[in-house]
Amino acid sequence: MNTDCDIIINGGGMVGSTLACLLADSGLSIVILESNLSPGDKKASKDIRVSALTLATKNILESIDVWRPVSDAENSPAPIMEMHIWDAGSRGQIHFDSAEIGEPCLGYITSNQQVLDSLHVRLKHSGNLNIKYDNGLRDYSISRDQVAVLTEAGETITARLLIGADGACSRVRTIAGLENHGWSYNQTAIVATVESEKQHNNTAWQRFLPTGPLAFLPLADSHQTSIVWSADTAYANELLQLNDTDFKETLGQKFEYRLGEIKNVGSRNGFPLTLAHAEVYTDERLALIGDAAHRMHPLAGQGVNMGLLDAAVLAEIIQGHAVQDRDFGKAFRLKAYTRWRKHDNQLMLSATDCFKRVFGMDHSLLNNVRGLGMNFVSGLPPVRRSMMRLASGLASGTATGMSSGIITGVAGNLPRAALPVIGSRW
Ligand SMILES: Cc1cc2nc3c(=O)[nH]c(=O)nc-3n(C[C@H](O)[C@H](O)[C@H](O)COP(=O)(O)OP(=O)(O)OC[C@H]3O[C@@H](n4cnc5c(N)ncnc54)[C@H](O)[C@@H]3O)c2cc1C
Repeated sequence: MNTDCDIIINGGGMVGSTLACLLADSGLSIVILESNLSPGDKKASKDIRVSALTLATKNILESIDVWRPVSDAENSPAPIMEMHIWDAGSRGQIHFDSAEIGEPCLGYITSNQQVLDSLHVRLKHSGNLNIKYDNGLRDYSISRDQVAVLTEAGETITARLLIGADGACSRVRTIAGLENHGWSYNQTAIVATVESEKQHNNTAWQRFLPTGPLAFLPLADSHQTSIVWSADTAYANELLQLNDTDFKETLGQKFEYRLGEIKNVGSRNGFPLTLAHAEVYTDERLALIGDAAHRMHPLAGQGVNMGLLDAAVLAEIIQGHAVQDRDFGKAFRLKAYTRWRKHDNQLMLSATDCFKRVFGMDHSLLNNVRGLGMNFVSGLPPVRRSMMRLASGLASGTATGMSSGIITGVAGNLPRAALPVIGSRW
């Protein structure tokens, strides 16, 4: 097969870059197309958000030598040792403590840009990875043996496989005509860094308001948190337009002053919230990963974690075929990836959507039932522990079901190269 490279990854976000790094030692030649400028460029658009990363995600980033630079950075990741969730419409509350599952923490809050920067440094130091900035995919065509990509800069690059890691509005997915089901939540998430009177004690807080969840996520500075305030878009726009004093007062009040007065608030940005799921993740010489394949409400903080699991599974499948000199771009071989990941992603999408709906209802009877349900679950240590394991990416099940596939032999004819990637715990 005569191609310019083995794999083209369109999109060098957290998910696409992680996949490239996972394949860095495979001997395959990889071109990454990224429409943004290089992260080092002052004019490059920056991701101001933070993400709650699971312990499974940390394992993946550790395996590609990216976790250490992330944790050595000035604002190192903040461990989440406890989580406190409560409901504005009832007396329902749940408290999670990592000590209960024998882990030092449940996950980490990390700056997206810090993770991206570290991934891109790693990309630059890998001989067989070639990243082209400011040069996204414009179009592509697929023939029997190859995919030919036309870039925005007018280059044509051929490969055995094209991977769409180009986010929610994936051009790869759109051109392929792959169906993408979903809806807008008509909500916007307001993201900002705030400074509070009291220390956060490495606790992540989430209060479910009838208008949407309000989360306070601990940062490295013990008085600083990143808020993710999801609200119906009209209300969110009002909040975005408030002056700082009124915003701080409204925020403190909605949060019941759990961390005392809100002393300072940084710039506020709004992100529209949608749910979307591609009908299939693969086709002849094509695969979708991360937000290109699925997008969910951020209330459970799982979007990028699910995307990194996609990357780990796809890397495993590609390498499995590559070492046997088999054409990994064939649709029938790529189907294994859809089988491993789609079910788990669907469960997570459905669960977050269900939480969003149940907590969005405001009716006295329903509120009481919801509150009783929360307190009932909170009083059952085994259920609480299972929920913590699931949220941390440690359990086999929703978020990690693919691991059980790997371990129990779905990967029977595949090398187990990705096992250490996914983590020995699994
Ligand atoms: C408010 C908010 C809070 C969140 N919090 C969390 C959290 O706590 N934990 C969590 O796990 N998830 C969280 N998420 C979800 C998470 O941010 C996403 O799932 C994640 O960013 C998806 O990564 P990605 O690499 O798939 O896509 P993206 O981050 O969208 O990256 C896509 C990349 O492709 C590039 N690109 C786009 N089009 C082209 C093209 N045509 N050609 C070339 N390149 C292109 C873009 O420039 C970008 O670099 C949150 C989401 C929101 C909105």
